[in-house]
Amino acid sequence: HAKSAGHGTLTVFRSEMDAQYIDDQKLRADLRQAIANGALHVVYQPMYRPDGSAIECCEALVRWRHPERGPVGPNVFIPMAEEMGLVSQITHLVVDRACRDCAAWPEPLGVSVNLSIQDLRNDDIVGYVAEALKRHSLDPSRLHLEVTESCFMDEPVAVSAILNRFRKTGVTIAIDDFGTGFSSLSYLDTLPLDVVKIDRAFIRNLGEDQRKLKLLRGIVNLSRELGLKIVVEGVETGDQLGLINRHSFADLVQGFVYSMPVEASRIVELAAEAAPAAKLSAMHRGAKT
Ligand code: C2E
Ligand code: MG
Ligand code: MG
Ligand code: MG
Repeated sequence: HAKSAGHGTLTVFRSEMDAQYIDDQKLRADLRQAIANGALHVVYQPMYRPDGSAIECCEALVRWRHPERGPVGPNVFIPMAEEMGLVSQITHLVVDRACRDCAAWPEPLGVSVNLSIQDLRNDDIVGYVAEALKRHSLDPSRLHLEVTESCFMDEPVAVSAILNRFRKTGVTIAIDDFGTGFSSLSYLDTLPLDVVKIDRAFIRNLGEDQRKLKLLRGIVNLSRELGLKIVVEGVETGDQLGLINRHSFADLVQGFVYSMPVEASRIVELAAEAAPAAKLSAMHRGAKT
């Protein structure tokens, strides 16, 4: 009896696994198609001065709207594209759109693009980025590239060499998601970096945790000593923003508290709303009525 029940369970389990597998294969095929057709989309999330008085840079975030499933997040399809060896095609698309869109924004507003570990396995990326900048007449100083510590794991020396070449051309390099995983403080010193993006995992429950606060202060002070700029990401609430401001933890703040990722065309309006002059005149208008 027990034996047949066990067998039945196994059969159900197997068919669920098969369904999952078929589903996955279909999603992969659809992703391949979407990449080939350029059907991916790019939105932008602004990084604000901590007091909200200006936007200095916007992060390009790729989006995929699946015709049947609706939006599929980059946390799902970027790892898939990496496994399929297709992620550099996504990077090319995002770099091209980001340079094009940024060129239409008021100077010196910049744009920041996420790189994958695969983009840094050979130095083709340096030429590709240079061409995109030229194609859209964008000054290299307005482009930022975000890398994570995982990008340095297999070939730290070769990757550092590529990043150095980027920096020589005037492109800014940021380390993303800092403070998660096994982020080593020695990265801050040994890698060619300009910006540290502190992960939102650090900001969550910060108020209640004195040890976390001390750790964050240590990272921030060290980064500043090394001449790095600090972006705090994933700031969601006014309380978090207040705490960051009280402790001067950020040079720039990115998160829902200021803005969700938006369409490229919306950035011009957000930048105008953030400008101190515009804010002031809005206040005057408010006072008169
Ligand atoms: P990331 O580079 O750390 O990007 C920040 C992520 O945090 C974005 O998620 C953004 O929408 C989200 N976020 C921003 N503010 C808040 C907040 O206040 N609260 C919370 N809970 N989340 C916030 P998204 O767009 O889903 O991207 C997830 C990750 O996918 C990115 O993390 C990045 O690692 C990767 N990714 C996105 N676009 C690209 C791309 O074009 N190329 C590559 N290689 N990776 C990308
Ligand atoms: Mg990023
Ligand atoms: Mg990040
Ligand atoms: Mg992330």
